[in-house]
Amino acid sequence: MTLSQTLEQIYQRLFEHYGPQHWWPAEDSFEVVVGAILTQSAAWINVESAINNLKSEDALNPVAMRQIPVDKLADLIRPSGYFNVKARKLKAFVNRLGDRYENSLDRMFAHDIPDLRDELLSIYGIGAETADSIILYAARKPIFVIDAYTHRIMKRLGLSSGKGDYAGLQPLFMENLPHDEKLFNEYHALFVWHGKVTCKKAPLCRMCCLSDICESFGRERED
Ligand code: SF4
Repeated sequence: MTLSQTLEQIYQRLFEHYGPQHWWPAEDSFEVVVGAILTQSAAWINVESAINNLKSEDALNPVAMRQIPVDKLADLIRPSGYFNVKARKLKAFVNRLGDRYENSLDRMFAHDIPDLRDELLSIYGIGAETADSIILYAARKPIFVIDAYTHRIMKRLGLSSGKGDYAGLQPLFMENLPHDEKLFNEYHALFVWHGKVTCKKAPLCRMCCLSDICESFGRERED
């Protein structure tokens, strides 16, 4: 079986097992961007609480977020943790959006993927995973998001070294799957859910839909 076929088989198995994940849970693209920044080192339930605070203060739009004092913004997003740093990150994003794109995400997202990625990575507080989440889930362009769950699952399956190298793992998906935004959306969401409920730190291999093709589980059975 080729690597492309293996990746497609994994996707099909996860999709049939868990069903559609309906990502990203947000009302509009700006909310996706804010969520992508706030979810750094934070549980989603706490991000939701911070986003609800922003909504209740009518601060969940680029213009309002640009105008609100940074300490007030930090207070609103306090539930997401690291709130002072994250407030500065949000400010950096909306300032760039205002300075270069007239507060329009559509204008920013008009870049092609490589240029948009470079632009996002040049903003304070936006790393590879956040940039790619914004490109995939807010701009709706096909790029594969890599996260800790992806690394763990791919390592256990025997498809990556698991050294935590984002730039090393991303091409494996980009070069072996069709560049389909809906596929990448669902695939990443399924990896996250699989990593949360089955391929956990202590994995539940005997109830896993990938167990017969998993290198880690195969080794365990041999021992
Ligand atoms: S068999 Fe176990 S280790 Fe392998 S993917 Fe499934 S849960 Fe993870």
